[in-house]
Amino acid sequence: MRGRDRLYRTEAVILRRSDFGEADRLLTLFTARYGKRRVLAKGARKTTSRRAGHVELFNRAELQLATGRNLDIVTDAQIVDAYKRLHEELPRLSYAYYVAELLDKLTGDDEENPPLYNLVVDTLHTLDTIPAAALDLVARFFELHMLNLLGYRPNLFNCTSCQTPLTEAADRWSAAGGGMLCPVCAGLEPHALPISLPAFKALRFLQREPLAATEQLQRLSEPLRQEIERVLRATLRPILERDLKSVEFLDAVRFAS
Ligand SMILES: [Zn+2]
Repeated sequence: MRGRDRLYRTEAVILRRSDFGEADRLLTLFTARYGKRRVLAKGARKTTSRRAGHVELFNRAELQLATGRNLDIVTDAQIVDAYKRLHEELPRLSYAYYVAELLDKLTGDDEENPPLYNLVVDTLHTLDTIPAAALDLVARFFELHMLNLLGYRPNLFNCTSCQTPLTEAADRWSAAGGGMLCPVCAGLEPHALPISLPAFKALRFLQREPLAATEQLQRLSEPLRQEIERVLRATLRPILERDLKSVEFLDAVRFAS
């Protein structure tokens, strides 16, 4: 299938970029049509290259690629959105790095997921434009909705363990199960994390409302933000560790044979 010199086009976001040889760059793309893909941008480090400015980190670009023997090669690039403020303001840029790293760790190569691509593009756009006071909440929205699109939707309306509809009496979070527990199930899980009603409600808001609505939460207190961050981080940790372990296992098998 991978015939040489076959050209194809796709829209993409540049997730990672590293030097390759004398003048080239190795890019990790997240594409609308093919999921994550590592490609080569030849001559991208030469300032005279017409394509150089179009393959900057986190740019959203329309690319033309040529199928290569190992890595596909960027043959044309046009910026769709350069996210200017995101590159000028360090807090915005650092959240973009976080989003890109999380996405890179939780997705495999060539796993097509158009809704996830749309989430990434929406997230970068919002990190570029939203008031700075809401940047961390955009990251929380991304975590919550990425979990959803990868098949780990956090349970915020029904108990994670017994599926009973949750009431405001629920005050425990199961990191292993990925969501809220009803009071009965909470009593059976000693490692459940305490969660306040305002944090529970803020998570529901983030899961139910569109990304643009995140701005409405910018007055949330710092302790509440930290609480939301803590439960989502605890939920992501076992998924990230499992994925990293699967990579270690694959490497062990590969090098043993
Ligand atoms: Zn329950």
